[in-house]
Amino acid sequence: MDVPMVNPEDLRLQIRSTLMSIHDIEYFKNVRSPTKRTDMDHALKHLVFKYLYFVVTDSGKQLKTLFPNKEHYVSDMDQVMNVNCVTDFYKISVNSTAKSKMFRHQGRNCGRKFKVGEPLYRCQECAYDDTCVLCIHCFNPKDHEGHHIYTDICNEFTSGICDCGDDEAWHKKLNCKAEEDGDDVVIDDEEELSFDTTIMEVVLSEIFDYFIDLFNQAIESLPTFTPDITLRLRQLIQSNDNESMYALLNDLSYRNEKVVPPVGKPGDYTVMIYNDEYHNYSQATMALRQGVPDNIHTDILTSKIDSEGRAMLKCSDDVHTLTEGFFAVQTNGLSATLTSWPEYIHQETCKYIIQWCNHCLSIPNHNFQSLFRDTLGKVLSAEYTRASETTNPYDNVKKYFNSKLSDTNPYRCLDASILSEDNKLPIGHHKRINEDDLTTISNSLNKLDKIMDKQYTNSRLQYILYFDNRYWKKLRKEIQNVIIPTLASSLTYKPIFCEQVVQIFNHISRSITYMDREPQLSALRECIVQLFTCPTNALIIFTHPNGYFIDILWSIIDIFVDFCKFENGTLIWQRVQKTNPTKSFGISFKQGLYTIETLLSKIEDSSIIMQPMEFISLATLCKLFNGAWKIKRKEGEHVLHEDQHFIPYLEHTTSIYSIIQTIENRLVHKPCSEQLLLNCIKLLNTFLSHKSLTYKLINDTHEVVKFVVSKDRVAFMNPIQTLFSFLIEKVSLTTAYDAIMYSDAISSPNVEESFSERKSEFDFLKISDFSLRSIVLCSQIDIGFWVRNGMSVLHQASYYKKNPELNSYSRDIHLNQLAFLWELDDVPRIVYNMLDRWELLDWFVGNVSYENTVYKDKIASMVQQFITFVYQVLTERQFYQKFETQDERQMTFIKNAIIYSLYQKPLSYSKLLRLVPDYYTENANDFDAALEEVSIFIEPKGLADNAVFKLKDLYYSKIDPLRLANLGNEFENSATMIRTHIAKIKKEDMNNIILQPQIVSPKNLDADIKQLGGFSRNPVFVKIIYKLLQTSLDKEDTTYLNELLHLIHAIFKDDEQVNGKQSVPDTYIKLPICSLLLSIVNSKSNAFSETVVNKADYLLEKMIMKRSEEIFSTLTYSFGEECVEAYKERKLNQGVNLEETERERKKRIAKKHQAKMMAKFNNLQSKFINKNEEAFEDSNIEEDGDVDMMHGEKILEGEEFSCSLCQDDKSIDIFVIPIYQDSTSVFRPSNVPISHDFMVPWGGFYNNTDASSKTETEPTVKNMKLFNKDNQRKVFVSCNHHIHYNCFKRYVQKKRFSVTSFICPLCQTYSNCVIPIFSGIGGTQKEQSVDMITEGIDNTPLTLDSVLNGDSSIKNLTKALKPASTADTKTLFSVFDMISKDCNSFDKEFSKAVDFQKGDAGLILANYWANTISMLEISSRMDKDTNGKFLAGKEQKFKTLRNMLLTIILMYNTIGKPDLGFKPHVYSSNQIENKLFQHIVRSTLFNTRGKNLKEIIADYLSDYVKQIKEDIINANFMDISLTDDDKFYDLDLNEGMKTMMIELFGDKSYDDSINYDLIYSCYLRHLRPTLRRCLIMLKVFNNLINDNDSTRFIFYDEDMENFNDSDESNLPNYIDKLISILTPHKDLLTFFKHYIIKFTEDYDYENEDDEECKGYPIENCGIIKLINLSEYLNTYVTQTREMQLREENQHVKNSKNRLDFKICLTCGVKIHQTIDHHEMTRHLMKHCFQSFGVFLLPNTSEICLLLTSPPSHIFISAPYLNSHGEAGRNAMKRGDLTKLNMARYEHLNKLWINNEIPGYISRVMGDEFRLSILSNGFLFTFNRDPRARRVPPVNGGDGEDDSDESDDLDDDENEIFGFGDDNDEEEEDNNGDRFMGPNGTTAGDVRNFFQIFENLRNGLDENGDGNNANGGIDLATPFIELLGGPQFQTGPIPPEAMEEESSSDSDFNETNG
Ligand SMILES: [Zn+2]
Ligand SMILES: [Zn+2]
Ligand SMILES: [Zn+2]
Ligand SMILES: [Zn+2]
Ligand SMILES: [Zn+2]
Ligand SMILES: [Zn+2]
Repeated sequence: MDVPMVNPEDLRLQIRSTLMSIHDIEYFKNVRSPTKRTDMDHALKHLVFKYLYFVVTDSGKQLKTLFPNKEHYVSDMDQVMNVNCVTDFYKISVNSTAKSKMFRHQGRNCGRKFKVGEPLYRCQECAYDDTCVLCIHCFNPKDHEGHHIYTDICNEFTSGICDCGDDEAWHKKLNCKAEEDGDDVVIDDEEELSFDTTIMEVVLSEIFDYFIDLFNQAIESLPTFTPDITLRLRQLIQSNDNESMYALLNDLSYRNEKVVPPVGKPGDYTVMIYNDEYHNYSQATMALRQGVPDNIHTDILTSKIDSEGRAMLKCSDDVHTLTEGFFAVQTNGLSATLTSWPEYIHQETCKYIIQWCNHCLSIPNHNFQSLFRDTLGKVLSAEYTRASETTNPYDNVKKYFNSKLSDTNPYRCLDASILSEDNKLPIGHHKRINEDDLTTISNSLNKLDKIMDKQYTNSRLQYILYFDNRYWKKLRKEIQNVIIPTLASSLTYKPIFCEQVVQIFNHISRSITYMDREPQLSALRECIVQLFTCPTNALIIFTHPNGYFIDILWSIIDIFVDFCKFENGTLIWQRVQKTNPTKSFGISFKQGLYTIETLLSKIEDSSIIMQPMEFISLATLCKLFNGAWKIKRKEGEHVLHEDQHFIPYLEHTTSIYSIIQTIENRLVHKPCSEQLLLNCIKLLNTFLSHKSLTYKLINDTHEVVKFVVSKDRVAFMNPIQTLFSFLIEKVSLTTAYDAIMYSDAISSPNVEESFSERKSEFDFLKISDFSLRSIVLCSQIDIGFWVRNGMSVLHQASYYKKNPELNSYSRDIHLNQLAFLWELDDVPRIVYNMLDRWELLDWFVGNVSYENTVYKDKIASMVQQFITFVYQVLTERQFYQKFETQDERQMTFIKNAIIYSLYQKPLSYSKLLRLVPDYYTENANDFDAALEEVSIFIEPKGLADNAVFKLKDLYYSKIDPLRLANLGNEFENSATMIRTHIAKIKKEDMNNIILQPQIVSPKNLDADIKQLGGFSRNPVFVKIIYKLLQTSLDKEDTTYLNELLHLIHAIFKDDEQVNGKQSVPDTYIKLPICSLLLSIVNSKSNAFSETVVNKADYLLEKMIMKRSEEIFSTLTYSFGEECVEAYKERKLNQGVNLEETERERKKRIAKKHQAKMMAKFNNLQSKFINKNEEAFEDSNIEEDGDVDMMHGEKILEGEEFSCSLCQDDKSIDIFVIPIYQDSTSVFRPSNVPISHDFMVPWGGFYNNTDASSKTETEPTVKNMKLFNKDNQRKVFVSCNHHIHYNCFKRYVQKKRFSVTSFICPLCQTYSNCVIPIFSGIGGTQKEQSVDMITEGIDNTPLTLDSVLNGDSSIKNLTKALKPASTADTKTLFSVFDMISKDCNSFDKEFSKAVDFQKGDAGLILANYWANTISMLEISSRMDKDTNGKFLAGKEQKFKTLRNMLLTIILMYNTIGKPDLGFKPHVYSSNQIENKLFQHIVRSTLFNTRGKNLKEIIADYLSDYVKQIKEDIINANFMDISLTDDDKFYDLDLNEGMKTMMIELFGDKSYDDSINYDLIYSCYLRHLRPTLRRCLIMLKVFNNLINDNDSTRFIFYDEDMENFNDSDESNLPNYIDKLISILTPHKDLLTFFKHYIIKFTEDYDYENEDDEECKGYPIENCGIIKLINLSEYLNTYVTQTREMQLREENQHVKNSKNRLDFKICLTCGVKIHQTIDHHEMTRHLMKHCFQSFGVFLLPNTSEICLLLTSPPSHIFISAPYLNSHGEAGRNAMKRGDLTKLNMARYEHLNKLWINNEIPGYISRVMGDEFRLSILSNGFLFTFNRDPRARRVPPVNGGDGEDDSDESDDLDDDENEIFGFGDDNDEEEEDNNGDRFMGPNGTTAGDVRNFFQIFENLRNGLDENGDGNNANGGIDLATPFIELLGGPQFQTGPIPPEAMEEESSSDSDFNETNG
């Protein structure tokens, strides 16, 4: 720059002085009233902004560049400092700035903070992990074609910044969309003008120095001081010691060069109140009132405290007037400070300075941004150099609160949360393990070194973060917004930022734990998320010479240790028992564990974490939770209330398990050296094996561990054991054994001499026995042995055992296997120990009888568990399996997990994902490949279901139901299921199928594993088997026999694998096991099932085959010769020769094999053909009529003519059917000349994806509004269920419905009136005939022909009814009377007319009938081959139409004839589009023209033809542009018609023949709807005459339901045919000719009736449907800004970028969420079709169906399916491409067109809909988060997937605990309280589970002390009952109260139904 700048030092001093003296500006001096304070606030903010922009732009020189096109700028200091000089030059107008400029971030990372409602884009393929996100401006769909993009919507609880530009976050280079958009914008020269770096630096450093100085002195608001200051002041005031009080206040108040507190009485003072998170709104308001605020609107004050974080209670120039209020609010629990007025002004100034910084970050000027951000980073990370010259509050603290700064405490300053004596960061509690203590892991803590010489940068950033707990809520957030996104997105400053945070990690985490009023607002949380998730940063943390990781780890351990105590010599964590209203301990614990897990997961090289220092430290953290939670079995009385102390243990230990899992992942990912690994094993062993256990002696020979699970305190979670198991798995068994034997980490295994000594000390039981205890405990709990401890133990045990993510139970099995492998020299001891732990030893040695063990009658179940355990110990081999590659290993495990998840029933993809542990599904490709290999894909069939995967047949024989993988299922059920399947495949009898134990062959395993089965052949163990078999036989109890035989089978198999095919263990022959088997086989008792007998037989056969001689001799000895011979005989009959030689046998088997092969070959062909069918046939898919598209009408079928309520079909009571009457939106106008509608041929339902990206033009939408509540558009919808009228009345009364709002008692369809149905009329036959004669009707029987060619009037149609008694007629009359009254004769307006007679209602009904017919016609347009077949099917619709006609007839004959002078609905100013057909119907039924039906139809059609002609002529028909797609009918094929057209239009000189084709086509297509309607009407007449709705409509031998040659190309013929049937004319041409005069001349209408026929509106004859949708749902999400949908509420903040919108499928408008959640209702009421709506929610892939009255709504899956065949919320969750499914969309369209949406909603909601009616929607409006009921899917295989609301209250325990098998939904909604940021990890279900408990507890604690078991409220009672039922006995409840109730406890309520 050529012009010399202001001297930087001058500028610096000038800023400093300005800021320091800001309180001195006249305008800000002195206290004032609340209103004036608000004015002052504005002025202060304005001043700060003005000033800072002025100085930062070199005294305003660059203001014009920065803020172009403004009217006023400031040009000199006078204007700047003049409070009255108002200019808003710094307001950034979004519209005036190019969008592209706004968000470009060249040369840096985007770092944009997400705003509420905006999408966060993630890409599975491109992102490093799922913490990497892109904002809407940066996300470029082109970068991710074919990728899995998934999104989240930012809400108030999530945070995060865009990672665009961060190379570490993405695998490939991304092309930022904002940059791309900006390419074409020429950067104007002015922008090139750069800003001055020095000035910027001076400004920023001065403002932050000022900030730091102010908050350094602001200790009053610190939780460590507030109570002490208050106490001191109280004492001084009580003792009237004013002088000391003044001194105290003055000493504590802020001072700088310009602020000097007075000596003596202080001046203006304020009382400031601070927010906390533990007082609720009303408590806070109460407390505030006690303080008598100077603002009378206490609620404003409360909400200010809530939003701002603090507020001024009052202020005064006399401090004495403030003290009372100051004490009063604090007595009531709030925090308050006495703050001097000048200090207050300075604090506010600081607040606006920070706001200014945020404002700067949003200025769309690239140069400014770069410079500002760089300078910000530079200034913040630079050292704060003014420490020595600014005021240090240390001395004052020392003076007044000496006890807080004890000289003996080196950490006194940190512990008081102040700076050190030299005004710098105080020393933290830094620790590390002493270098000499790295060979063992202590039971307490290893020897630690305190590090007292840590150096800190003392940067501004560190000061600001250190003062974090001094800021009020809003300021705190704003500071974070300035610092974190800016620095974390800067390549230069991110690592610096990270290191500076790490340096003071100890300080901040301690401050959060112990010294923070609002710990949840801590900046550390976001810092961790933004910094520690970055691999480079993580690497720095781990490898930095300053040992940052160790420091962080010990900072966290330190905090845990504060809550630990010794138990049996071991230090373990204890539940927090101190009061902790801020919940800071919990927050700190969770944050600490999260930090460690995050850091570990970012480290590639596992050797870094396996170093002794790191590993011991990690193990130290983990071991604090090893067995920390112990329980003791209760006896005697049942517990009264559930013990919930376990929750924090379970929660934190779960995190510990995650940490262990992360270590494991690192080891698998990149193994460390074996030496390191062995060292770690040794280290863990030092900890685990140094337990002193008590032993007891068994049989005087064997020493076993003395412990009784059911008596002693016992723990089930031992994470260290799990870690130990993981490590051992990584090395060979021998190596691991050696490592443990020489456990002293430094000694080497070569020291021979000490081996025997070591061996004698070595006892692996010291380690494995703890695992055994867990297993036994779980089993005991399982069988109900712990029932007196309550339900919670059950849930804990099942959580532990069945949670594959925890991976703990299988590890317990592993350790028990190791016990057998490594204690080989004394197997009996291990067996005895095992029996003793299971508490079965006493029985085994004969001390107690089977019935008298501790388990009493539960003994058999316990044995069952025991056998299962032994089985698993014997067969689980995955820990020793060897694989070629890591991938192979992974695939094997994945496949296995899938097989075991799928075999019970087919599952949808998402459900399967939830069942399979996360670590198997992380790699979607692997998972999908495995899935494809083992399963068959079955497509979805219904409207709401998902596709499912079914296990391939061949895998069934590979399933072993006793294995760990099947832990969740019962053995016998599973076994039966598998055997059934195998039998089906093999086409054999199920009983002949013997289930094979699945044992991995030893050749793929660690060589040493051969010895594992040794224990099972040990005599002691065989004796157990023998005793158990014997007991089962004796007691005839088969509880465990299935498992036992399967175990024996496995033992034999294992023996074969180890000792060869011919081997049978000798021990099993020595003890007569075979005799017991034969006893079972021969048992006469029916106690033994065929399965058991067959298995025993099989085993016996197996033994005989190998050792026949010995076995037979034993058997003969036991049972005698005869018996054995009989057995042999029997076997021989079965084709088994038990005595054949081995050679013979082999030969026989080979032959058999050959035969089998032949048979197989023969079958091959036929099998191949049937293959596919078979796959589908047994797919287990049940079809539930409720939502099945194919069977949509199924549920509507009721028993004809029996009452839905009393089931009585004999009563003489009159039947009624429920009707839903409402207007329809499907009658659409058509402006003939310009509309393309009529040119589109009908060819079934379609969706034009090209048209989906733009909302159609306005006119259509405007028309929607016309459809609202317009009576003339009413149609009837009915389920046609019959109900006695009296039954109906009683039903309505009993259920508290009204007759105009109720649900059908049978099918729950919403209805709002009834019509009577009665098949007879008019007294006896004789009376009727008489009537008819008097009325002048002939008595010939009614036929369709006679109606069509003769009299079609009601009078004549009455003949179709049976005669009825006078009494019936009377009843009917009174029913009609009542119904008419109830529903205002079906039209409120009309019935109000002065001379209205009840009979006139017939005319109204006739109109509705015409409308309903028209609706049916319109809806059938989208049928396939609609011309030919539109009358077919639709039985229910025709039933309704006949019932309506019946009602009109009955009404005519009872209530009376209508006055034809009445013309219902002509009063309406709106022209209804189907007016033509209304007139036809009126004329038909009431014979207004005195013509026959054919003539009537022809007449009206001719009027329409004339009308169309006029419209064509009036508009310039020729101007329309035609496209190639428009198809016309060629007149050259029809000369006569061509002549006719020329005659009609000739004088208009349409020369071009194509135009006549066009006109001709126009006629054909516009006449078609009315002709079709007439045909429908005819069919209804036919049904009436035949008294049947299902007969096929055949007329003059023509099948009317299947016209030939009726496709669109044959339309001319088709129309001719309809004309010939419906009119007296033989074809269209004849018809035209007949009326030619009418068409060509100024025709005079004969009478008044004809007059109205002029001016028919032309109706749209195209396909009416919901809007066109995009082909892929993803388009709405990834290209949301390209979709140019019309926005309705644009004023919604940030509307363009939000993703939480809905699309109205009726009109195509995009609707944004409003705060009250009423946006959809509001749209319908104001802008759309009022009655109901269909909305697409693109983000969740759902459709919301909404009814406005009663207000109710449901969600169903959007009509999109992903490649896994899933719909709804699961479809897009993982970013799959989700494609429109036409069948589903068509079905939705049909529901909508037919006005069936309301009925659908009510049927899905069921009883909840009843509440909607009763409360008129009060409870279920959108006040709560719209998560109403979701439709249950059809697919039986996946039934419970979406059933988030269980009605079954008995099950609520399961539901609450979240352990029910079906609890799996909604996890995506619940943002647990852990680190749920967009950049945080989504916590698994576990957190939901705890969240529910949290809520439950909060609910319980509401009433006070926390000991209250149920707070006086029965928690099982549904929410609604608490309010006294829907009638609200307590009077109206304000909606806010409701909202609070339902939102705060939403989880709980949801679960409770
Ligand atoms: Zn971005
Ligand atoms: Zn970008
Ligand atoms: Zn991608
Ligand atoms: Zn009844
Ligand atoms: Zn019904
Ligand atoms: Zn709409």
